[in-house]
Amino acid sequence: NSITTDMATLTQQIDQFAKNKKIEIETLTVREEYRKEFMGNVSHELKTPLFTVQGYLETLLDGAINDPNVSGKYLERANKGVERLIYIVKDLDMITKLEVGDLSLDVAPFDIIQLVQSVFELLEMKAAKKKITLTFDMHYKHPIMVVGDAERIQQVLTNLIVNSIKYGREKGTTEVSIEKLIKNKVIVRVTDNGEGIEKKNIPRLFERFYRVDKSGSRKEGGSGLGLAIVKHIVEAHEEKIYVESEINIGSEFSFTLEKAKTSV
Ligand code: ADP
Repeated sequence: NSITTDMATLTQQIDQFAKNKKIEIETLTVREEYRKEFMGNVSHELKTPLFTVQGYLETLLDGAINDPNVSGKYLERANKGVERLIYIVKDLDMITKLEVGDLSLDVAPFDIIQLVQSVFELLEMKAAKKKITLTFDMHYKHPIMVVGDAERIQQVLTNLIVNSIKYGREKGTTEVSIEKLIKNKVIVRVTDNGEGIEKKNIPRLFERFYRVDKSGSRKEGGSGLGLAIVKHIVEAHEEKIYVESEINIGSEFSFTLEKAKTSV
């Protein structure tokens, strides 16, 4: 009888071992697929600006450098391409760090109102180019102290506001508002009256490299990583990100933050 029991246990153990091995192999396959897809996306993203830069430099070398009417313009465009490459590589670096959990948060209390104001200052010119008005719906006086990694939250706000400008309409508005919630939370909203997003595309927005309109978005630049970075940072803070959008009406991206204990 005990031999039968031992055999049964042994069979069970072997089964379990095989199952674990299968899971291990499946996980490796998924990881390998993921790596391949990531590499494919990365080279695709880098190719376009690289070829642009190469195109302008080759034209200059072929003689355009001696034509004062175009040489400056071509150099400027090549430089824009390099700037775009740097931007993409920075985003790639950030998403890699976030995905492998290599980015520690430097959490401390900070004033969210002041942070919104400094992001506005940095993006004023970008908004002005599209005649977009940046407004801050401020119900509250300074400060609203929250806890988090201010530098990372600045990146979240920057990415959301940059998107609202990129996908906003000419002469439109971007409004940031802050609301105090119960349970020691605040919610920060970034609202635009731009092109909006179709319902069916909303669930995929935060995937890395995902773009609703491939050609249209490419014209606007970016890496397709902005929202993936936003989601990672917000979730690393154990907070939530929401999106509501209606096509041709506009979009609202919002995220929560924890109020600092000292905050009134
Ligand atoms: P990208 O570099 O393409 O802007 P993101 O990850 O920041 O990448 O955004 C992914 C996609 O989500 C964009 O390509 C765009 O289609 C859509 N999107 C993001 N923000 C907005 C917005 N405020 N209004 C409309 N569409 C948006």
